[in-house]
Parts: sequence; C-alpha cells; structure tokens
Amino acid sequence: MRYISTRGQIAPIGFKDAVMMGLATDGGLLLPESIPQIDRETLNAWSRLSYRDLAFNIISLFATDIPPADLKALIDRSYASFEHAETTPLVHKDGVYILELFHGPTLAFKDVALQLLGNLFEYLLKERGEKMNILGATSGDTGSAAIAGVRGKENINIFILHPHLKTSPIQALQMTSVLDANVHNIAVEGTFDDCQNIVKTLFNDLDFKKEYALGAVNSINWARVLAQVVYYFYAWGRLPEQREVVFSVPTGNFGDIFAGFLAKRMGLPIEKLLLATNENNILSRFVASGDYSLGEVVQTVSPSMDIQLASNLERYLFYLFDENPERISKAFAELQQTGRIVFSEDELKRVQSEFLSCTVNESQTLETIASFHRETGYLLDPHTAVGVRGALECVPKHPAVVCLATAHPAKFGDAVEKAIGSPLPLPPQLAALIGKETRCEIMEASREKVKAFVKAKV
Ligand SMILES: *Cc1c(COP(=O)(O)O)cnc(C)c1O
Repeated sequence: MRYISTRGQIAPIGFKDAVMMGLATDGGLLLPESIPQIDRETLNAWSRLSYRDLAFNIISLFATDIPPADLKALIDRSYASFEHAETTPLVHKDGVYILELFHGPTLAFKDVALQLLGNLFEYLLKERGEKMNILGATSGDTGSAAIAGVRGKENINIFILHPHLKTSPIQALQMTSVLDANVHNIAVEGTFDDCQNIVKTLFNDLDFKKEYALGAVNSINWARVLAQVVYYFYAWGRLPEQREVVFSVPTGNFGDIFAGFLAKRMGLPIEKLLLATNENNILSRFVASGDYSLGEVVQTVSPSMDIQLASNLERYLFYLFDENPERISKAFAELQQTGRIVFSEDELKRVQSEFLSCTVNESQTLETIASFHRETGYLLDPHTAVGVRGALECVPKHPAVVCLATAHPAKFGDAVEKAIGSPLPLPPQLAALIGKETRCEIMEASREKVKAFVKAKV
C-alpha cells in the first residue's frame, strides 16, 4: 500500500515513510492510494475476533511494508497497556450503545492511537539507526497520551509544553509525574496558544528542525487515524445483530470521525456518522448547511473539542472533491484569504448523505450528564455527553446507535460534579498520582528559552 498527499505534490511512499513524514512535505495530508474493500463474509468472520487480532487484520492491509510478525508484536504490545480485557468494550445503556475508548493508560481515547504510534516510532527509528525529538503543545489530553506512548522508549525524547496552572491539576500530574529520562515537561507561563505558537515557530526553524530531528505526534499522523479505524469494526462486531449502524462521534479535529468515514468506505455497514460538537460548531454548521466559516474559539466544559480549524477535515474534503488535489489547494487558499470555504449544492448533498450533525451547548451537556446518570446510573464525561445528547436528539429513531465514549468521567471531574451535584471518586490510576514526585521545567513563554532547553537536554 502506498500513500499520496491531498495536495498531490509528492511521489507515492510506503507506510513506514508515511508514519515518519507526519505532515506531507507539500503541506498536505497523507492518504492511502486506494481504500481496501472488505466484503460481508470477511466482516462476519472479523466480528468474532479479539480486538488485537482484528487490529492486526485491518492494520496489515495498510502497513504492507512491515513484516507480519513484527506488526503483530507491535499491536499486541500497544494494547497490552489497556486495563480492559476487551480493549474497547461496548455497553448498552438507555437505548444507546456506548463504546468505551478510555481504558488506556491516560483514560482518554487518544491512547488507542498514541500507544501504537509510540511503538511504531521506536521500531522505525531503530531500523533506520535514527533518533527523534518529539515536540508538542497540549491543553491537557494529547500531551499525557503522547508521553504515555513514548516514555522509556529508545532513541526518542519528548518535550511537551503545557500552559502553567491552566490544565486541570490531574492532567498536569498525568504528565509531570512521568519521571523517565526521555520525558521533558515544560510549563509555559502563558496560554495554550503561546505554547502552540512556540512549537510552530520551532518547527518552522528548518535548521533547528533538521539538526534536532524534530518530530510531531499531532493527529495528522496517518498511523493515528488508522489505529482508530479498528474500533468502528470492533463495535459493529459486538452488536447483538450485525446490521446497519449509526455512530455518534464527539468531534474536534475531525480525526476520530474521519476514521469512521474510512471504515464506511471500506464497506462497514454504517448508515450515518453523527458529527457532534460543542459551541465551537464550525463542523456541525458545515454538515447542516454547507457553511464553513471560521469563528473564535470559545472555552467549554469539553475542552478537547474547543477547536475551530479541524486539521483532519482536509482528508475528507479530498474524497468529497473526487480526489482532486487542485480543488483542495484552491479551497484552502480561499480559506486563508476569506476565512471560509464555499461548497456547491451537489457537494453539500453528498456531505449530508454521509453525515448527520448536532451542536450541543454547555447547559445541554451538563443536563445530559445528570439525566443519563439519573436514568441509568452511568456517568458520561462531558465530551461523551455531547455525542450522547446528539444521538438522543438528532438521530431519527434507529435501533443501533453507537456513541463513542472518548474520556473517563473522572478526567473531567469538575464538570461532572457540577452536573450531578456530588464529587466522583478518582479511579485507582488517577488516585495513585496524588502526592507523587514530579518533574517539570517552568519557563517564560519564550521560543529561545525552549530552544535552549531542548539543546541542553538532547
Ligand atoms: C481529542 C478528543 C476529542 C476530539 O477528537 P478529534 O479526533 O479531535 O475530533 C473528543 N474527546 C476527547 C476526550 C478528546 O481527547
């Protein structure tokens, strides 16, 4: 399987090169040259596989340049870190199915992809005799999952910037209590945007980027999307009856829901994908009316979805535009100039044939956590609650709706407490962090200071 760029300016490359490249060097995103088609018979056979065996079957279709035994070992190692025997169990509550994606080391769904990506990086760096210094900014979730993915790994250092005292205390602890020698936390005296700007400028400093072999772990890496395709198939196989299904996906960067789109294209019987957002609803507006115009980011109780410019949307638009790289380049030039992309009637019709959409505001989110808890005894985190509210409100009556549960409620305990009126106990993994030794460099928001720190540590 070879990979091409949505901007059409790179010669096709293999899976291993695609993982190492991250963002395509022409500024586009990497996609497989063709999408494997899975027939019904195979789907039925797959529905009886364990998560790890299913992951191997799916991923090996896309990672054809890794020897099968190596790939199997990488996958097994990646999901051995999950607490639940089923990796991503499916539960049934109040007429909807909940796909629990939060049983990994940091209790958010990003572990599914970052555990695999960390192992892939280690494997590929060793094979190539290279080293990598990962640099990233986080408002909370991604940083801890990325650190958990590469801690203690050979030939990799990771530097994660977070805004000092602006993540939740638990989120900070999940990062700073990791004491492995290759993990470096930097608490920047500033905002998340300051952190992100510093990281962006350092990646644009091409001499520095090359000399220090800077690498990224953001959601544009193809391996992250690929890892997420697996659980759509897994959930379908765990339904009592293998029929057409609707998935509800709480959406920020469009990575998770794009994996669902890919699963649908591969032949999984998905009737519709419900794109659920909080008040940062550019994507749900896009699906509802074709209005794709950037607004300001507002802060909500589901902070991992407080995003305007969804980096993975470009992958979907590539298919919407009939795999035409010129149309992609034109659309993104238009976005840069005018702050919006205009779609034709026909394009909008096609978007709506694949997706439903729903915007869920803060009071609706909290109300959903409370009522779901009252009626079923089950606690939703605020991100998952956005998706569940969407499923209950915006999907025409349907017997098989699967809501993706993207984080454990205790990760966002303040919002959940506000909703149900009482504090919730910390799960053992989080309780164990309290009082642990931590290591973190507090630093003013200066690109030069961060650069000097990286140089000193490498
Ligand atoms: C990252 C994240 C999301 C959004 O996923 P995207 O792939 O960015 O759309 C939703 N919920 C949680 C808890 C997350 O961490």
